[in-house]
Amino acid sequence: MTKPLPTFDTIRYEEPSAHVARIVLNRPDARNAQNTQLLYELNSAFDHAAQDDNIKVVILAGAGKDFSAGHDLHEDPRGVDYSPYKAVGTWCGFGCAGAEGHYSREKEIYLGFSERWRNFAKPTIAEVQGKCIAGGLMLIWPCDIIIASDDAQFLDNTVNMGLPGAEFFNHPYELGVRKAKELLFTSGWWTAQEAHRLGMVNHVVEREKLPDFTLEIAKRIAQQPLMALKTVKEAVNAAQDAAGRSSAMQTQFALHQLGHSHNMQVFGFLIDPSSTAAAKSKTAAYTKT
Ligand code: ZN
Repeated sequence: MTKPLPTFDTIRYEEPSAHVARIVLNRPDARNAQNTQLLYELNSAFDHAAQDDNIKVVILAGAGKDFSAGHDLHEDPRGVDYSPYKAVGTWCGFGCAGAEGHYSREKEIYLGFSERWRNFAKPTIAEVQGKCIAGGLMLIWPCDIIIASDDAQFLDNTVNMGLPGAEFFNHPYELGVRKAKELLFTSGWWTAQEAHRLGMVNHVVEREKLPDFTLEIAKRIAQQPLMALKTVKEAVNAAQDAAGRSSAMQTQFALHQLGHSHNMQVFGFLIDPSSTAAAKSKTAAYTKT
């Protein structure tokens, strides 16, 4: 008898082929913006795939027009009820006042989750269409392989918000140092084709062929021995970490938190309200004091 697949409110969990799990962000009306519930459910879905010995490879996809609009800035981080969720880190104190609470939240659900998924033992493939903005990069960059549709566009506009890049700072490794600086300095978009040229994306395919193309790669990976897949992934990740990736990321995360504290002291908001539409909105929780 086959086991029932797990169900979630903001995520779909599928098994489209033998040994392949497909996790789908499922808030298409919100362009798959990441609220706290979605991130914890996504983490639970990854955990399910990790603990199912029958699964060898995981595809991460997004329902609808766009892969992800990034973090849901309309969710007030101070109003979140964390009781339904099981913390994966030990810092906790999500409801604490000031920088303590905000640091703990971002350490858990932003840097913590993305780093945890980057170190997910089995191979992962991101299947990306449409727009993938800031926090959206923090879902695809932890994956081992990225397949983009020819209409995919990428953006990290956090400098425009008064912050030094999104919380999972893989930019120099994905884009190269010079393009990372240019794209961060300008808060500029880059296309799937440019992402491919820079080495961030493995393949660019027509939009309608994206799911099938991604699944075919997953099926080829699923023919390999799981032990070898897990060990070779860990070996490649170790090579990157030996070159300083982890410590560089911790430095940027501290600077990112300094940026939030600076914005709070100067503007009374977590992000600089002078230049972003979200910050100008009276309903943008991220900008309420
Ligand atoms: Zn932040």
